[in-house]
Amino acid sequence: MHFDLLIKGGEVVDPGGGHQGRVDVAIKRNRIAVVEANIPPEAAFRVIDATDQYVTPGLVDLHTHVYHNVTTWGIQADPVAARSGVTTWLDVGSAGAYNLPGFREFIVKPADARIYALLNISSIGLTAPTWELANLNHCDVDICCKLTDSHRDLVLGIKVRIDKNTTSGTGVEPLRRAREAAERCELPMMVHIGMGPPDIADVLAFLRPGDILTHCCTGHSMRLVDETGKLLDVARRAWDMGVVMDIGHGAGSFSFNTAGAMIDAGHQPDVISSDIHQFSIHGPLFDLPTCMSKFLALGMTFPQVVAAATSRPAAVLGLQNEIGTLQPGALADVALFRLEQGDFPFYDVHMNQRNGNTLIRNTVTIVNGRPMALLADPPPMPWIELTGDQRSLIERGHTPAALAASSKM
Ligand SMILES: [Zn+2]
Repeated sequence: MHFDLLIKGGEVVDPGGGHQGRVDVAIKRNRIAVVEANIPPEAAFRVIDATDQYVTPGLVDLHTHVYHNVTTWGIQADPVAARSGVTTWLDVGSAGAYNLPGFREFIVKPADARIYALLNISSIGLTAPTWELANLNHCDVDICCKLTDSHRDLVLGIKVRIDKNTTSGTGVEPLRRAREAAERCELPMMVHIGMGPPDIADVLAFLRPGDILTHCCTGHSMRLVDETGKLLDVARRAWDMGVVMDIGHGAGSFSFNTAGAMIDAGHQPDVISSDIHQFSIHGPLFDLPTCMSKFLALGMTFPQVVAAATSRPAAVLGLQNEIGTLQPGALADVALFRLEQGDFPFYDVHMNQRNGNTLIRNTVTIVNGRPMALLADPPPMPWIELTGDQRSLIERGHTPAALAASSKM
């Protein structure tokens, strides 16, 4: 008996580790031990049969909100992790300086999923739905850097949300302070865009190589394409310079028109992330595999969307040797998927529809060498009421679970 767990007979897609094809994955303790063809089942204490399934590194979601019970947006990570294959969760800005110690204590410590954070430049984080930058007293660079410094294992960068409501008249000053904090801490910064003002060009001017622009396929006024669908020159320059373009679908930030125009012109996003939270988990986002399925419908290949949700985000975080890869020695985070075939309706946040023929559905999620147990989601927070669009998705059977069930018949 050499291995603790063997995943046998699956089709491995591992852009980070360079594996592709019918190979087995052997795990010893919490690390990937061997990836090769025909590992005998007797070599492992436990075997998972992956026949007819795809085996990938555990997904790395670069944009999530998991500060459950404390912030407006936060969901609980583990129930979604266990059913979606997302083993690493980057919470982006739910915590600010004053509630970061609580994030570690109440969220990171009890979770089975791997959780990291970007610290909000606003010291109150995302306690309220928005306006966190409207009072510049909250944008305290010193306290942001002090808390980052004392939580270096957890905080991997700085987050700032720049749109009309978050800033409410403070313009790009919060962005300037986030830039200063990121530079002082020598970490990347993630900037959220949406409805202006400010103008997108004034925002992009603050970004440096390695920084992340999230909501890069927004359909709102700060979008990266012009009326004809052409990528803006300022966006092109930022992208060429090394700014990371991240999806962050969420409840208001993903437009099929914007994404389609960019991809048709050869600009595939660097990272596909969910922006899963209390308002987006009931659709049309639902979860990261469903979001990845939308990019298959837009013409990307399965290995491309897997790279955009494993090795690419891992590299953005500087963790490419530990997560988002099945290379031997890496952490044993693995996901199994079925690719359901059918004629599936997908929707963006404006309820524009595109049909695709593949729905990515997770079957097994392994973190640290251990398969996660399925868990029920906690009930929605009291301020959540499903929108008319969300109710109609359920009524029409256009949820991922209902679509997958129908495709098997
Ligand atoms: Zn977000």
